[in-house]
Parts: sequence; C-alpha cells; structure tokens
Amino acid sequence: MSRSPRLLLAACCIAGPLAAQVPATPAAAAAPITAIRVGRLIDPESGTAASNQVLLVQNGLFTAIGANVTIPAGARVIDLSRMTALPGLVDSHNHLALTYKEDPERNEYYITYIHESSELRAIEAASNGMQMLAGGFTVVRDLGNNANYADIALRQAIDQGWLPGPTVIPSGLIIGGLGGQFSPTPQMEIDHKITYPEYLEADTRDEIIKGVRRNALFGARVIKICVDCKRWGYTTDEIKLFIDEAAKAGLKVAGHVQTAAGAQRAIDAGIWSIEHAVALNDTLHKQMAAKGIWRAGTETPVTLVGHTTAAAYERTVAGLKNAFANHVPLTFSTDADYYVPGKTRGEVAIEFLTTWKAAGIPANEILRAMTINGYKVATIENERGPIRVGMPADFIAVPGNPLDSIDALRDVQFVMKDGTVFKKDGVILVGEFLHGGPQNRGRGGRDAATPAAAPAGRGGRGGGVQ
Ligand SMILES: [Zn+2]
Repeated sequence: MSRSPRLLLAACCIAGPLAAQVPATPAAAAAPITAIRVGRLIDPESGTAASNQVLLVQNGLFTAIGANVTIPAGARVIDLSRMTALPGLVDSHNHLALTYKEDPERNEYYITYIHESSELRAIEAASNGMQMLAGGFTVVRDLGNNANYADIALRQAIDQGWLPGPTVIPSGLIIGGLGGQFSPTPQMEIDHKITYPEYLEADTRDEIIKGVRRNALFGARVIKICVDCKRWGYTTDEIKLFIDEAAKAGLKVAGHVQTAAGAQRAIDAGIWSIEHAVALNDTLHKQMAAKGIWRAGTETPVTLVGHTTAAAYERTVAGLKNAFANHVPLTFSTDADYYVPGKTRGEVAIEFLTTWKAAGIPANEILRAMTINGYKVATIENERGPIRVGMPADFIAVPGNPLDSIDALRDVQFVMKDGTVFKKDGVILVGEFLHGGPQNRGRGGRDAATPAAAPAGRGGRGGGVQ
C-alpha cells in the first residue's frame, strides 16, 4: 500500500516537465492487471489462513490483497477459488548446475566434472531451475559446484528475462583449502590444476581475501566456504577473515561443515549458516540457537535410495528433532545435485518433507522453514518472498491445505513468478517468459545481477554487488 502512491507521486514529478514535449504515455496506468481469486491464503508467519481472498498483480508486483478487493474492469481473472495460495518455497542449499548420476559416473561428481563442460552444466542449471520452479520453489540458494560460474550466469539469464526460473542466490565457486573437496592425483593437481573451477583454492590470508573479492566481483550473493573439507580446514580466525571480507561486499558466509571441531570453529567465528548437519549435536545446537546461526541441514530422506543409509537417516532425523527442540533457526535444504530416475529436481527436493515429518516438526513450522526462514537465510526477506503489497508477485497454489497436511506441497498446481504465470492446472507454461532480447533492465535493478543503471558495455558484469 505504501509503495504505490509514493511511486506514482515520484513519476508525476519527474514526468511533469517532459509532458509538454513528449506525448503522454501512461505506461504504468496501462499495464495489464491480473486478478487472482484464491480459496485460502496462507500467512506462514502466523501459521493462519484467510478465506476467499483476491490478489491484484500489476507490473510484476502485488498491488492489492484482501477479501473485499474490487476486480478492475478489463483485468485478467484467474480462478483459484478451490485452492490454497501461499508464498513460494525456498531450497536453501541446491546445486542447479550439477547432476551426477549412476550412469556413467556411478554418482561420483569428480567424473561428472571431467565429462561435462561449463556450458553444458549451465544449460542443465536452466532446466533444473525450471524443474524447481515447477515444484513450487521460487527461491534457490545455489551453493557452488557449478563449474565456471554457471550459477551466476543462470541468475543473470533469469533476471534478464531469457527464461523462467527461481530467484537464484548464487555463491560462485566454493572457496576451500588445497584440493577443495577433491582428492586429485599429483599430475591432476600440479600439472593440470584440476581443482579449479570446481573450487577456488585459498590457503593463505591474502588468498582468502582475493577469493572472496573474486566471487563478489563476478556476482556472488553469498560466499560458500569449505570449513573442514580437508584436515587443514580453516581456523576460527580465518573464518572471521572470510566473514569480514564478505561483509564489505554486503555478503554472508555459508560454511560446509562435516566435523564437530569444524562446526565449533564456524560457530565461534559467528558464521551465517552451517551447511549439512552430520557433525551437529546437542551442545553445538544450543550454541547455534544462542547465536542465531542458521542450520541448512540437508536432511536426505531414506526414500531417495542410494543417497543415504538407514542408519544415517536415523541420525539425521534425531538431529533435526534435537535442533527443533533447541530452537535452532531452521531452513529447508536438500543438497540436491544428483539425478533420481523418474523424478524432476523439484520432486527430489520436495521428497525431503519425509525427513521433516519423521522428526515430528509441525506442519506450520515446516512451512516457516520453507518460506520465511528461507527468505531470511537468503537475505531477501525485505525484497521478495512474502505475499505483500509492493512485493514481486511470486506465489504458488495447491489443492489441499499445507497447514493440515504438509504433503499438500507435493501437488503444486499453480506457480506465478514476477507476476507471470509459470504453471497453471498443473501444466508448465513457458511462452510468456521467452523474449528475443534482454528484459527488465529498466525494472529498478533491485535484484538484477547487472544493475539497471549501468551503462551498456561498461562494468556491467562486475557491478552485481553493491
Ligand atoms: Zn552441497
């Protein structure tokens, strides 16, 4: 409500002097309006639902929301009155540009990396992004293993309107000590420097600073580090250096953690989020809760056969239960970077509900982890996510009520992204997203990888982070 009148006022003042010279083109007034009737509208913050609401959308933004909103004459009307609408879902840890598989690499991504070019992986990322969006995920935090910055290319392509996809929060390359998560042979490491670009090696303080700046320069929206991928992992002081350097670029640090000692160092340093839960325990959870450190636990369900074991799953469920009891800030995260035959990337991601249910987390709390907390860990909660007047019009709809049964989220029938319908009646509609040239450069640049105001051909790519 507060946004539109202010914008209109500003437009009047600027347009005034021009009006005498240029024929009036009231573009904002003429922009088509979409009105959506929804049977139920969920507010994940309060865990409640309002009945029979109308949402108005114009210029990609929500412009009115309520039970008594009048539908303007000429508006395109979408009837979701038999459905429940809710904000888009967030996967806080995915790898859109990596798809390892049983054949031919026996699920070893070192082999995937050798077989597949950055270009191919960027195209995979485009497809995986659409698969995630079709599953209801409108935001994906993409944490590395994306070849040569394919994640950032995807973000730019979506922002520029070349194709539909979720809002991507890309990390660029994972920064780690020598070898990253690979264990290359001497020839491959020394003669062929094979670790790069899957990882950016940073073993000294100078290299840490350079690594953070390089990712920020190329458009990263979060810095991902390997806290303890190797025995020589980062010290508390080194993690603090990452955090301080990232902060200069307005970025947070997400840490891959696989040992309790590494988790302790990350917590002591005050890291933003801990990725993976395998090393976390009651003591560490209590410290995370006290410091407000996000837990992106990537809790693989036992139903994704071959990607966890019964024993590991039992520990995962117990760990999530303990984290919830300790009030650790929880996000929904998958670490999805593989192919499960018969499932889209979105279907793989939503399968993780199985673990959350097994841990006894109430539906409204799972929904909070998948929405509000997801926007917060992605640091976009004031820009995108909540269904609120003035926000980008992103939302999904399902036939059931996820507050009654969270499994209702397995049947996303409708998806709107930036005011454009991506999925309706369960069918993906891509046409309205496709353009013969870049779009959106004039749309404020609020979340564009390239600022709208940047002159063409000068510093555009590097200007992604303020
Ligand atoms: Zn991962």
